[in-house]
Order: sequence, then structure tokens, then C-alpha cells
Amino acid sequence: MDLLQSKWIPVRPLNGGAPQAITLEQLLCSNEHWLLSLPRDDMELAALQLLICLVQVSWIPEDEHALQGYVTKPLTIDAFRQGIANWRDTFCLDHPEYPFMQVKGVDAKEPTGMDKLLAGLTGATNCTFINEPGQGDALCGGCTAIALFNQANNAPSFGGGFKSGLRGGSPVTTLVQAVDARFTDLRTTIWLNVLTRPSLVTLMCDELQLSQLPTWQQPIVAGASIAAANIGLVRGLFWQPDHIELCPAIVAGQCSGCGQHADKRYSGFFKAKFNFTVNGTWPHPHSPRLFQVKKGETQEKFLAFTTSAPSWTQLSRVLVRLQPEKGDAQLPAAVVTQCAKIFRHAKTQLIVGGYRNNQASILERRHEVMAINQGWQNSPEIIEAVVQIGLNYKTALRKALYTFVEGIKTSEIKGAGIAVHEVAERQYYRQSELLIPDLLATLNFAEPIAKIDALRIQLHQLCTELFEQVTAPYHHHPKLVRAVAVARQSLRKHLSDLKQLQGGQNAA
Ligand SMILES: [Zn+2]
Repeated sequence: MDLLQSKWIPVRPLNGGAPQAITLEQLLCSNEHWLLSLPRDDMELAALQLLICLVQVSWIPEDEHALQGYVTKPLTIDAFRQGIANWRDTFCLDHPEYPFMQVKGVDAKEPTGMDKLLAGLTGATNCTFINEPGQGDALCGGCTAIALFNQANNAPSFGGGFKSGLRGGSPVTTLVQAVDARFTDLRTTIWLNVLTRPSLVTLMCDELQLSQLPTWQQPIVAGASIAAANIGLVRGLFWQPDHIELCPAIVAGQCSGCGQHADKRYSGFFKAKFNFTVNGTWPHPHSPRLFQVKKGETQEKFLAFTTSAPSWTQLSRVLVRLQPEKGDAQLPAAVVTQCAKIFRHAKTQLIVGGYRNNQASILERRHEVMAINQGWQNSPEIIEAVVQIGLNYKTALRKALYTFVEGIKTSEIKGAGIAVHEVAERQYYRQSELLIPDLLATLNFAEPIAKIDALRIQLHQLCTELFEQVTAPYHHHPKLVRAVAVARQSLRKHLSDLKQLQGGQNAA
């Protein structure tokens, strides 16, 4: 199965119709509108990302104008053939010598079931996953390629000495999609996330190294110490940090992933660990990066979901570029930055996805689409301000309730000793998950102040309500009456401090 030529892309027509598998040529060269069709949102994101990577390396737009052309018009058959001509046999899942994202002759005693390749399907801590049983029984070539790609690039390692990808074990991936009904289709979304040559040159400091072979054609040498700057575009986008080899395919039948009939299906793979180090950070175009100065040295890492706080709390890191002269900085994903620049007036949504993990265990799957109204591209500082307001009110509530929990030792006011501040924080996040994304989806970024002030009032109310709700069982408790009163006073003080900021100073 060749990813550039076979029917493997799991789609359904945008206007309704049966799921089916199509070729890359059908996807890129026709006017038909498709959507991805897989049973899991993380696998759909991985499929999208895999397609973006294939298109990125095969048809690099020379400039903005060329990219706009690709977005508006399907590729001609000639341009398609020209693009894939460079990659004969490179992206074949069952190539006899160089199979896609695998190495031949993996030294493993026992095969591993395909469910291990579907991130988070096995293991005890994944009770939050809703998965159809038997999903990993036997996968078609397409689903297998998507799962291989996802495991290598987006998911925590298999654990026990296996390596995770170039962005670490649980990077947040951010991509862009169009909102206009005519352009939400898969073809447009792919092109919106392809970098032009000038964007690539800036991102990779002129070192695209396009002739460098991917890891399955030129394996990583065991024990090697590799400078991230020496990893070229193709090798980096399709990086495979583990030794994996699919078991021979089994008989034809239904794929347990996409549900399509497949001539060849895969029910297991061999895996073996090996060691190497990558020094520095490869500037992956699909993730926000964070820079922190520690002991005079700048440390760079990719954004990850490290707590259960909702995604809006990370939005400024996803969208806003901060480059202070010295100190902490943040860079949105290169594809998001480019889209904001080239498609300044387009209505777009953000696709944000990642896993929250504890080492090899996945605790949470976080994949969502967030709408930000057009115009944010010109005023990213407003996003920063809205996120900060949301966090400030959360902190006010938490601080006041912490007083209730701990009491005040110097005044001999006894605290409740029950962590109601944690309960309130979770509820605050749950309710703000509707408020803040709704505001950003509809905000007029040219005149934001009235709506931002209305948000403050809503959050003020929310804090007061949640405070009364979580302390209600103790209102008449003789030993805690004073603690409730002191904490309530503290909340009023914090909220009134925040009210002083009203009038949009924060957004200025
Ligand atoms: Zn399938």
C-alpha cells in the first residue's frame, strides 16, 4: 500500500453519504468535498496531520500567491504526478525492504497486538476513553499507517525505555480549518496548514535538507547523538523513534478501525527499543513552543496539557507570540502564525489536540475545535487579556476558599479542612468552558470592551454563586460560621480589586 497512490484515506462526502476510502489524487485533484471519517477524534487529527505532512513535502508552495492558488483550486493531474514523482516507494506500508515508518528484522520474541498502537486503548487508567470494543483487532493499511504515525509523533512512548517523538510524549498539536461552509472540506484544511518555502526557511533557519532520507530508509544509528538542527524536513515530519515492524498481513475482511473492507489487514507488530539522543529542539511546525530561562540558560519545550484545566486557559500560548528581550517567550505553531498572516481575513477555527499523560499512561484525550472570530489576527493581545481575566477570577475564588479551608491561625479562626477550593475550581472551569470560548467566537476584536466587561460581570457572579454553593453545608456549622464570613469577605475584596480593572484597561 502506497500512501501516495493507494485508496487508503478514510472519508465521507461533506454533503452526506457513505464512508469510503479514496486516493490522495482523488482528494487533491477533484472538486468533490470530503471530510475525514474515523471513529476517534485523535485518529482523525493524526490522519489530517499525516496528509498535511505528505502534501507539505511533495508540493511546497513557492510563495503566498502559490499557496492561495492551491487553496482555491484543485491540483491538476500533471502537478499531482510531478509532486509524487520524487517519492517512488518512499511511503509504502508493505515495501519489502523499506516499509513506511518501520524497520525490517525487529528483534522481538512476541508480537504486540494492534490495540497497543492505538494510543490509550489498553491500560488501566484509560477509563475516560469511550472506545468501541475490538477496535484494534485487524486494521486496514490506511488505519495502520495513521496509527503508526500517531504513536511515533503524538503519543507517549510505549514506556519501559522506548523513546517518544521529537516533540516529547504528549505535545499539543494546533492546526487551522476554515469556517465558511464551502471550505470546511478536507482538501482546503490540508492546504491551510502547509507552509510556504519562505515560512519553512524561516522556521528551519534555511536548513530544509530536502534530500535527507526518512528514518525507515536511513535508520537512526543506535547510540547516536543527533543535533536537532541536522534533522531535515522529511525526516523530522515522519520521525520514527522506535523499531517497529508489522507482522505479515492477515486475510481480507472488515477493518476494525474505519469499518471499510480491506484486502490486507494487520493484527500485530514487533517492537524493540534502542537508544539515541537528540540534542536541542526540532522546530516542528504543528505545535506551539515555550521558552523558559532557567539559571541563565534558555530551555525550549513544546506545549503539553499538564493539568485538567480547559483548553481556553492555553489559548494565548496557542495564538499569541511573546518574545520578550530576555526571559520567558512563546511561539505559536508555524502553521497558525502563517495562516494568521496570509489568510488575515479568513474565518478560521483552531483544531487543538493532544493527550494528557502520566509517563506511558494516557489520562485524557483532548481534541477539540475552537472558533475565534475573525480579526484576532490583528489584536492577539485581546486574547491574552481575556484568558488572563478568566484566570484572575478563578484565582480570586480559589484564594478566598483556601482561607475557608485553612482558617486563620493568628485569629484562632478554625478552617474546614476539606478541599472545597478544588471542587469550586473544577466547577468554575466546567462553566467557563462555555463562557469564554463563546465570547472569543463572537467577539468583535475591533471593539471588544463592552463584551469583555460583560464577561467580567458574568465571572463575578459565577464566583459568588460557586462560593455560596460549596460553603452552603457549613453556613450554620457553629465552629465554621466565622471561617465562612472571613472567606466571604476575602472573596469580596478580591472581586472588587478585579472590578477596579473594568473599563478595558487589561485589554488596552
Ligand atoms: Zn481502516
